[in-house]
Amino acid sequence: MLNEKIVKEFGESLKGKLIQPGDSNYDESRKIWNAMIDRKPVLIVQVAGADDVSSAIKFARENKLDITIRGAGHNIAGNSICDGGLMIDFSAMKKTTVDVAKKTAFVEPGATLKDFDAEIQKHGLATPVGINSTTGIAGLTLGGGFGWLTRKYGFTVDNLLSVEVVTVDGKKLRASEKENADLFWAIRGGGGNFGVVTQFEFQLHPVGPEILAGLLVFPFNQAKSILKQYRDFIQTSPPEFNVWVVLRKAPPLPFLPEEVHGKEVVVLAIAVISDFEKNEKLVDSLRGFGEPVGEFIGRMPYINWQQMFDPLLTPGARNYWKSHNFTELKDDSLDLMVEYAGKLPSPQCEIFIAYLEGKSNSVPPNSMAYSSRDLKYILNVHGRWDDEKQDNQCIGWARNFFDATLKFASAGAYVNFMTEEENERVAKAYGPNYKKLVEIKKKYDPNNLLKHNQNIKPTA
Ligand SMILES: Cc1cc2nc3c(=O)[nH]c(=O)nc-3n(C[C@H](O)[C@H](O)[C@H](O)COP(=O)(O)OP(=O)(O)OC[C@H]3O[C@@H](n4cnc5c(N)ncnc54)[C@H](O)[C@@H]3O)c2cc1C
Repeated sequence: MLNEKIVKEFGESLKGKLIQPGDSNYDESRKIWNAMIDRKPVLIVQVAGADDVSSAIKFARENKLDITIRGAGHNIAGNSICDGGLMIDFSAMKKTTVDVAKKTAFVEPGATLKDFDAEIQKHGLATPVGINSTTGIAGLTLGGGFGWLTRKYGFTVDNLLSVEVVTVDGKKLRASEKENADLFWAIRGGGGNFGVVTQFEFQLHPVGPEILAGLLVFPFNQAKSILKQYRDFIQTSPPEFNVWVVLRKAPPLPFLPEEVHGKEVVVLAIAVISDFEKNEKLVDSLRGFGEPVGEFIGRMPYINWQQMFDPLLTPGARNYWKSHNFTELKDDSLDLMVEYAGKLPSPQCEIFIAYLEGKSNSVPPNSMAYSSRDLKYILNVHGRWDDEKQDNQCIGWARNFFDATLKFASAGAYVNFMTEEENERVAKAYGPNYKKLVEIKKKYDPNNLLKHNQNIKPTA
C-alpha cells in the first residue's frame, strides 16, 4: 500500500499528470492496442518532460514499484503495462521539430508514426518507419523498425542520430556515436532495457509527397504459383521497389468483386518510392503473375499509403503475433504458408512476408545492437480475432504455423514482434551482440529495474 500523503506530494511535484485507480481517466489511460492485455498499474505518470521521468523513476525505486514505459502502447506482448507497477506514459509528449536544412528531426517518444510523418512530410521528408500509423515511434525505433523505406534507407535505427535518455539513477544523458557511445550502441535495437528515452533525433530523406503504391489481389487457387514467381522476381528489383505479400481473407474493399469478399486471397502490397515511370513496367510484370481479381494502384500521397492498413489494424482486437527472419524463401516454406493460409481461424488472421533486402544488408552486424543484417524477408503470422472464446484456436494456429516454418528461419529474431512468453528467444535475437549488451546492461541498469521488455538480464 502506498502512503497517500507521499503519493499526493509526488503528484504535485510533477509538471505532467498523475493518474490513479478510481480516477475518471484511469481505465482509458491503461488501455493498450492489444485487447488481450488488461493490467492495472497502481500509478500512471503522464510525464511532461525528462524531469518528470527522473522523478517517476526515483519514486518507483523508493517505493519498490515495477517500472513500465509506454510510447504508444502497440507492443503485442503488452510490455508497456504491468499489474501493481508505475507506468511512465508518454502520451502527452508528441512533439516533432524539423531542421529542414540539415534534413533532421527531433521527436518526443509519445508520437505515433502518423504524428511524426505529418510533421516531416510538410517538408517532403521521411525516414523508414512501420506500416501502421498508430504505432509508436519509441518502441518501434528501440527494437529496430522497418517499413516501406527500409530497402532504400535501412532500418529506423540506422537513421537514428542521437537520443536523450534518463537512466535508472535519474540522470539525463545524451547518447550518440560521439557521446555515451556504448549506450547509443545498445539502444539501437536493445529496446527499453537501458534507460528511458525522452527524445529521438533522426536523419530524414526526400520522399514523396507522392509515391506509386497500391494493392494487387489474386484468387487463392493461384497462391503457390504467385508466391514462387514473387520470390524469384523481387530479388532482381531495385531498392525503391517494394512488394510485400499478404495471405488473408479479403475484406469488403470496393475495388474487389463481392463474390471475393470473405474468401482467401493473395495480396501484393506495392510501394514504389521513386523512379515511377521506370518502375511502372515492373508493376505491370506483377499483374502478369496470374489473373488478378482486383487492383487499386496509382500515385498517392506517401502519408495516405502510410495509413492504408490502419482500418485492418484498429486497436481493441485480440492479437497474438509471431515472426521469423529468412535469408531465402524455399519452395517448401511457401507451400506451408499456403497450407496455413488455407485454414485461417478468423477473418482477421493473416500471414505476411516483407521483403527488406537492400541498405540494411550493408551495415556491419556489430555496429549496433540490432544485428540481423543477413535478413532478406520477415515472415509474420498475425493471429487476430475479437471473441475471447477463440483464444485457443487462434493462438494455436499462429503457434503451429510458427513451429512448422522454424526450420527455414535464419539467425536472429525481431524483438518488436515477440510475444510475452518468448523471453528465451532474446539472446538468439541479438546473436553475437548479446554478450556486449549484457555488459552495457550491467553498467546502466545493474539491478534490472527496466525488466518489462524483451529483457536483457544484467547477469550472463
Ligand atoms: C498493428 C501493428 C503494426 C506494426 N507494424 C510494424 C512495422 O511495420 N514495422 C515494425 O518495425 N514494427 C511494427 N510493429 C511492431 C512495433 O514496432 C512494436 O509493437 C513497438 O513496440 C511499438 O512501439 P510503441 O511505442 O507503440 O510500443 P509500447 O507498447 O508503448 O512500448 C513497447 C516497449 O518499448 C519500450 N519503450 C517504449 N517507449 C520507450 C521509451 N521512451 N524509452 C525506453 N523504452 C521505451 C518499452 O520497453 C515498452 O515496453 C507493429 C505493431 C503493431 C501492433
